[in-house]
Amino acid sequence: MYKKLSIVVPVYNEEKNIDSFLKRTISTLDKINLKYEVIFVLDPSTDKTEEIILEKIQQNKNIRLISLSRRFGQPAATMAGIHNISGDLCVIIDADLQDPPEIIYEMYNKILEGNDVVYAKRVKRKGETFFKKIISKLGYKIIEKISEVKIPRDTGDYRIITKKIIDKLKDLKETNAFLRGLVAFVGFKQTFVEYERDERKDGKSKYNKYFGSLKIAFNGIVGFSSKPLFLMSIMGFIFAIISFLIGVYYIYQKITNPLITPGLSSTILIITFFAGIQLLGLGLLGEYIGRIYDEVKNRPNFIIDKKYNFEERE
Ligand code: UDP
Ligand code: MG
Repeated sequence: MYKKLSIVVPVYNEEKNIDSFLKRTISTLDKINLKYEVIFVLDPSTDKTEEIILEKIQQNKNIRLISLSRRFGQPAATMAGIHNISGDLCVIIDADLQDPPEIIYEMYNKILEGNDVVYAKRVKRKGETFFKKIISKLGYKIIEKISEVKIPRDTGDYRIITKKIIDKLKDLKETNAFLRGLVAFVGFKQTFVEYERDERKDGKSKYNKYFGSLKIAFNGIVGFSSKPLFLMSIMGFIFAIISFLIGVYYIYQKITNPLITPGLSSTILIITFFAGIQLLGLGLLGEYIGRIYDEVKNRPNFIIDKKYNFEERE
């Protein structure tokens, strides 16, 4: 019942991975009896990624390229791809082969069982620092706890989605798009397949080794929950009570023991402590206001420079 599978691949400086990525992906697609297209979305790269993809386009009419006007980052590049597919199924995958293309086959089978989203869930993380694992585990835990929608743990963007989901995603015009969250938000029938995440085949991760995807995780938290704001009010309330009690204690001391010299240090301590809490609160508020500002400006998430091989698409 599905006719065509579109693969969306955000790329930035991946010259060494394109060739084996395409080989493995296309041999998997050959097992699936569908028309297909592979759409690379290029964040303008400093290496030969673009040239290599253009070469591949000459050899295979199902490969396409969208190049963005500047580096917009992985989430925006992915959205640019999703807005330009013609398939009724879409796979979102990284080019570095950390997401093994072979499991597209299994994911597709789960779609045939009637699911609308099949995401790839990693059971092990090879080649990632201990610290990154902890951070991402913690990140997911926090997101899970406070998010208003349930974002599946241990998943990246690697997933297959049906037209139903694609259409809904296109309607959501959020500026700080957090794809995993948006897909979870949309709902419908969702399931997963498990896989072992490999090491990056070639080149370097585009994110910082330790705090890498922290920005994305933070986006996930603030974008899908207003609980941090609530937390601030609770904290403010608790600290107000504590400071009131401390005040009472000092007055009591003053009355019972008039000779006591009021400690400068405790005063400074209290002032700095509450200044800290207030700044934290302000920072958090600022984060939400910043987002409101982003949304109000309503700028496009991405700007396309050129599209290759889209002309004669069926
Ligand atoms: N990527 C991108 N733009 C960026 C950073 C990354 O299009 O600004 C692509 C990158 O080429 C890869 C995918 O997004 O296909 C995931 O990036 P990476 O492997 O560096 O992330 P990690 O796996 O370390 O989280
Ligand atoms: Mg990677």
